[in-house]
Amino acid sequence: MDRPVRIERTEVLVIGGALAGLAAANAAADAGAGVMLMSKGKPGHSGSTLYIGGYITWCPPGQEQLLCDQIRWTGGYLGDPSLVSVLAENINEANQRLVGWGLAMNALAPTDKPTVAEVDCPPRQPKGYLLGKVMAERAAQQGVDMRAGLSVVALLAGEDGEVCGALAVDNEASEFVAVQAGQTIVATGGGARAFARCDNPRGTTGDGFLLALEAGASLVDMELINFNYEYSDMEAALERGPSVVGERGTAHYFLGGIKIDEYGRTRVPGLLAAGEVTGGLLGAARLGGSALAECLVFGLRAGEAAALGSVDGTVEADVFQTIAETAADSQCAKLAAGVGETLSDVSNRIRQTAWVCGGVVKDEAYLRRGLDALYELSETVDSLQVAQVSDLSQLHEIRSIYFAVLASMEAACLRRETRGNFWRSDFPSPDREAGAYRSIVFWNDGRLRVVQRPLPAEMPLNDYPIRIGPGCFGYDFSNGPR
Ligand SMILES: Cc1cc2nc3c(=O)[nH]c(=O)nc-3n(C[C@H](O)[C@H](O)[C@H](O)COP(=O)(O)OP(=O)(O)OC[C@H]3O[C@@H](n4cnc5c(N)ncnc54)[C@H](O)[C@@H]3O)c2cc1C
Repeated sequence: MDRPVRIERTEVLVIGGALAGLAAANAAADAGAGVMLMSKGKPGHSGSTLYIGGYITWCPPGQEQLLCDQIRWTGGYLGDPSLVSVLAENINEANQRLVGWGLAMNALAPTDKPTVAEVDCPPRQPKGYLLGKVMAERAAQQGVDMRAGLSVVALLAGEDGEVCGALAVDNEASEFVAVQAGQTIVATGGGARAFARCDNPRGTTGDGFLLALEAGASLVDMELINFNYEYSDMEAALERGPSVVGERGTAHYFLGGIKIDEYGRTRVPGLLAAGEVTGGLLGAARLGGSALAECLVFGLRAGEAAALGSVDGTVEADVFQTIAETAADSQCAKLAAGVGETLSDVSNRIRQTAWVCGGVVKDEAYLRRGLDALYELSETVDSLQVAQVSDLSQLHEIRSIYFAVLASMEAACLRRETRGNFWRSDFPSPDREAGAYRSIVFWNDGRLRVVQRPLPAEMPLNDYPIRIGPGCFGYDFSNGPR
């Protein structure tokens, strides 16, 4: 054992301190569980949540089916119908819960149709700041033990593969902390920082994708990423291909992510997930406001499900200690005094490759070129070393963006069509039949694999025109389901 590991215990462990994580922590605490929340940023004031426009899906009672139809139509019918129904049926109550905790929200206009509400806050006060403050204060009142400055670098599992906690790096003390938990919820946000151009804050590096993959969970729809791009430039971009995009547009939101069921459970026992780190709900594009709705509804459900699961843990304390120390030892193998290639050089190379070859508009040649460049970098990424324990957090971020980009570009090669925010200049139209599948990414023998799986329900073949466009879509009751 190279370095000491501080061991702590809780019933439910939440990783991530923004909307999805705080929703989960509040719900688990309300259901009577002991909850610890670890976040590399400040709970309530970190992640993309801090920068929101403040719009969240709002559904008048009785309009749930219409909301489902709009979400599925907008996502090119790739969104999982059962997850979409859960969102539509629960968003009303979830919003009311938020209002009950002290957050004022206004529906934008009186309407009997689904729409967005806006967080109502004093002028010049950031909406994300207020939202996070309300959620974090409520969690503190409910007794959630919130820890800032802890970056999780690995999930811990027993011999049977069941997740039993996580290993984190305490960034200030530069030491390891391992938390044993009955249930662990990953709510670490998306990975748009994997692209050289993006509107997400630092730290949005898709850490949870890699944590979950390495623990045996699968990812879904990783090729589906929401890019902001001027609508007026869209047609030219689609005609001329990746080389015209250059300096315009930004990566905004990961539609794909960890595959979950209706309660936020992954296929790995003891491991749940919520928020932007998850995928499969929205499909190839999203309605404005639906990202926050997803965090809130599925965060609350994952928290409740975790509290109702087995919270006592399945491994003995001494066994857990061995698991944690072994994981810390393998992290310590990445420590060395003199370090060759600097982390930021590698990070820049990955992010540039992602933007140029796997950004707003893709085609086969650029994707292949990007994948070749990534596979060439593979040994470098594997052998990266850092000087001290606290740097391991940055190392995990670089590995995370590397695998997020690799997964997204491998999956993008398979999708030979254009749909929603997924644009291929060599296949500029939707292919209703060949495109009706979802991509699944999993870890096998230390390698990432991507396969295509049929959709859970038949995709309608003669329905509304499939939406293609940049950024988030608005509700459209004239041309779409009404
Ligand atoms: C500029 C901008 C405006 C937006 N506006 C809207 C809007 O108006 N409406 C809407 O619906 N959506 C909006 N979105 C999208 C929405 O904000 C995000 O999808 C949502 O906030 C994600 O919340 P989250 O809790 O899943 O993750 P995040 O808010 O990204 O939080 C992730 C949390 O996990 C922590 N974390 C990450 N990695 C680790 C790790 N390894 N260990 C420990 N902790 C970790 C972070 O510190 C943070 O606390 C916007 C996004 C952006 C960038």
